[in-house]
Parts: sequence; C-alpha cells; structure tokens
Amino acid sequence: MAVDTKTDQGTVVTMEKIVELCKRRGFIFQSSEIYGGIGSTWDYGPLGAELKRNVKEAWWQDNVRVREDMVGLDAAILMNPRVWEASGHIESFTDPLVDCKMCKQRFRADQIVADVCPACGGELTEARQFNLMFKTFMGPVEEEAAVVYLRPETAQGIFVNFKNVQMSTRKKLPFGIAQIGKSFRNEITPGNFIFRTREFEQMEIEYFVMPGTDEEHHARWIEERYNWYLKYGINPDRLRLRAHDPDELAHYAKATTDIEYLFPIGWSELEGIANRTDFDLRQHMEYSGENMAYFDEESGKSVVPYVIEPSGGVDRSLLAFMVDAYDEEIIEKGDKKEKRTVLRFHKALAPVKVAVLPLLRNRPEIVDTARKLASQLRPVMSTMYDDTASIGRLYRRQDEIGTLWCVTVDVQTVEEDNQVTIRDRDTMEQIRVPIEEVKPLLLERLSA
Ligand SMILES: [Zn+2]
Repeated sequence: MAVDTKTDQGTVVTMEKIVELCKRRGFIFQSSEIYGGIGSTWDYGPLGAELKRNVKEAWWQDNVRVREDMVGLDAAILMNPRVWEASGHIESFTDPLVDCKMCKQRFRADQIVADVCPACGGELTEARQFNLMFKTFMGPVEEEAAVVYLRPETAQGIFVNFKNVQMSTRKKLPFGIAQIGKSFRNEITPGNFIFRTREFEQMEIEYFVMPGTDEEHHARWIEERYNWYLKYGINPDRLRLRAHDPDELAHYAKATTDIEYLFPIGWSELEGIANRTDFDLRQHMEYSGENMAYFDEESGKSVVPYVIEPSGGVDRSLLAFMVDAYDEEIIEKGDKKEKRTVLRFHKALAPVKVAVLPLLRNRPEIVDTARKLASQLRPVMSTMYDDTASIGRLYRRQDEIGTLWCVTVDVQTVEEDNQVTIRDRDTMEQIRVPIEEVKPLLLERLSA
C-alpha cells in the first residue's frame, strides 16, 4: 500500500526520492553493489554513518547516561545455542513456507492467496516451518554439534547477564539494562529499503521491575519512548501508538504496544514496547539451572523480576528521521523561482553541523581563512569544507544533507572587517559576525 506522506509544504515524500537522495549524497548504498548487490542489504556511506552514530548517541544519552536507573551492556552476537532453546527461538521462531513444484520458488504460506504459485501457477507443497535464525559453525568442523546462531535479538544477551549486571552494579529494582547491537533474521520477504533487512541494528532496553508493578511501568515506558521521537523532531501527526490484539501477541508477552510511523509504505512499526513478564528469566533458570532471582531486602524475599522491553530499530528510526526531515520548497530568487530540497534534521541528528565555504576559490587568502576556520571547528563539531562550486550551488548541497549552518568567507572578510556570514538552514537568514565568534556562537546554539 502506497501512502502520500506529505511535508508541511505539501511535498509528497516517496521512498524513491529518499533512496535516490541517500545514494547520490552518500547516506546509504546497496551492499556489494559492483557485484550486483545482495538481497536487502545496505551500507551506510559517510553521511549515513554520521547520522546513524547520532541516532544511537541520542538514544544512549537519553536512556542510559542521564538516568540513575539504567546501565549499558555490549554482549556478543554469538551465544551458547542453549540460549535459543530456552528463549523459544529454536522451537517457534519460524515462518510457514511453501515451495512451488514447478519453478522452485519459495513463499510464505500466510501470504499466498490462492492454492497455486503466484509466479507460475504451479502446484505448491504443503507448508513447512522455516527457522528465521542464521546458522553458522563454530570452529573448523562443520557438524551439527558445532552449530551456532547469529543472534536474532539483542535481548537474550541482557537476560543471561541479569545476575552479572545486578551483582556488579548493586542496582535495586526497578532498573534497566540497555544495549545497542546487530541482530540477524533470515526473513523470507525483506524489503522497503532499510525498513526490513536481514541484518539490522537494535536499540533495546530490558527494564526489570517488581511483579505487580509491571503494568504501570509498561504504561510509563510507552509514553517515554513515544516522547523520545517527538523530542528529535518527528511530526506528531505521523506518529501513533497501536496496542497488539491478544491474538498477535508473541508467546512471551502479556501486552505489547507498537509505536508506528507513517512511512511512505504506510503506517509501520518503529518500536515495540512489550511486557515480557518473568518468562525469559524463568526459562533461563530452568535451562541453565542458575538461580536468577533477585533478593528484595525490604521484604526479605526472593523474586523473579518482571520485564518491560522497549525495543527499537536503529535503521528504522534513521529512516523515519530521514523521511520526516525531507522537505521541498519553492523559494523566490529575484523574479525567478527555484526548488530547494532540505533535510530539516534535529540539530543533534544532523550529520554535518556546519559547512565552511569560501566565496571565491581562486583567492588564496579567502581559501586559507576558510580552511583555517574549518580546522578550528572540526574538533568540536562535524564540519565540512567545500570549494568545488559556486556559492548558490554549495548552499543547495548543504541544504540537501541537512547541514545546520553555512559559514561563508568573502572578500570583505579578508580585506576589511574579518567578519563572516552565517546562514541558517531553516530560515536562510544570514548574519555577519567576527570570525573569532563563530565557534563559541555555534557551540552555544548546539547546546541550547
Ligand atoms: Zn512457480
């Protein structure tokens, strides 16, 4: 289903526009493109790498560093296969698949409308369960005993470390453990650019609470996580909450609410906030034989905590921020009209904060002054220097990647007043300031 996602100015943002801009400006490339690519796998280019770091940094700052009740973790992707038995992934992390006997293509049984192959009309096999975990072998021998899996979620790395973290940090309930990392799911039907990929990055929190207080913590996390997206500029008209019906709940969940964003492909999940109860800790207690209970000093009793899990996707969030930031507007230039494409990223997310541009690239003193200013700004904020086009064109390039400010060095700077022009991305207003004031002024605006 295609949906017109319109900007404030009424621009229709299509996935094609986003994909094209991402490739042209170096946000996201197809993986192994020179070999024809590989299914639904993408590489983040120079600007995409910066943007992705900024998304993760904002999440970590807000959910870990500023909170007394949260700590971080960075667990390994490879885990003892018993983990996936305990979690239920080996048994039930599956999709039902059918094969076409004629053309040999494979489809998800729940997406087949008729009883025949949608590609060739051939006869289909009975549905079989297909596990979505990627398998590989640990060590040199490729045998069943050496099978390990690439983790399909970061959550289990947190659960199995619950006791380690609690004992080493002396945290009392309620407290949470946060983790950002790659996960892998062998999806049969990935797609829609970076929305659904087989290799992806998660930002997950497992928040451990006393049983009986889980519902209030669940409600609070839903609100906090919803507000987080608003804080970084997501348009509230394109953000909504959707509670799962009882029949779509995962086997471990008592309740789940999704935060959905209106992507160009329609309303789709950005993040899920699940009440996982004590399911995971109890499973690991049973399978490992380790006691994972928490001793509550107040009551003098041992309890197995309940868990609230806000689980978001880095790549999806990045895509939402990208779609939401995208804008096209018509600006008047004298008696001419011109289209301006601008990514209105939140200042914390913008991959480039400032661009320093010499007005004339054939005047050495202008170029030298601009380069010197750029090198002063680089250690404190993401800075770009560009002298490869006329100033109008340089502005358009920076708008298109969401650069917050353009600082221009001109003839007047070097011949008269030692002042430069700072242009604001959103208002396009220009102010003139002494060159030594640029750094403190921009730092102040960034932290405001
Ligand atoms: Zn077929």
